[in-house]
Amino acid sequence: MTCALIIYKLTMATASPLDCFFNRYRAILLSESAPMADSECRLAGPTLIRSTNQGGYPFMKVRIPGTSKSKSVTISRLMYMCSVRQIDLEGDVSHLCHRKQCLNIQHLVLESRAVNNRRQTCYAQGSCTKLHEPFCIFP
Ligand SMILES: [Zn+2]
Ligand SMILES: [Zn+2]
Repeated sequence: MTCALIIYKLTMATASPLDCFFNRYRAILLSESAPMADSECRLAGPTLIRSTNQGGYPFMKVRIPGTSKSKSVTISRLMYMCSVRQIDLEGDVSHLCHRKQCLNIQHLVLESRAVNNRRQTCYAQGSCTKLHEPFCIFP
């Protein structure tokens, strides 16, 4: 057995179901999205935006390790979960750039529903009120 193969086998043997979950979905989200040419946003491609919730946010059905039923999670929340490697996140994962299909982790922030809602004012006026941090991004 080659050294690389042994390391691979050891890694697979020690990776927890949660590690596998985070690695798998992060890889899917990255491979099915692409950076935009004219901004810092990274937009989800056709396979990721097939299903959207009532708010227009694309979601995926995922089965979280340790649970029996699959659950709908917005792709932005899933991206955030996989980046911080945590399932339970208190609050909303909101888009600083106001693009519902953006998966750039720099544009995603975990915050309260109240702050998230206040960003609607920024979106409506086309610039950030700067009454919250981090500020909205208008790419
Ligand atoms: Zn963005
Ligand atoms: Zn703002």
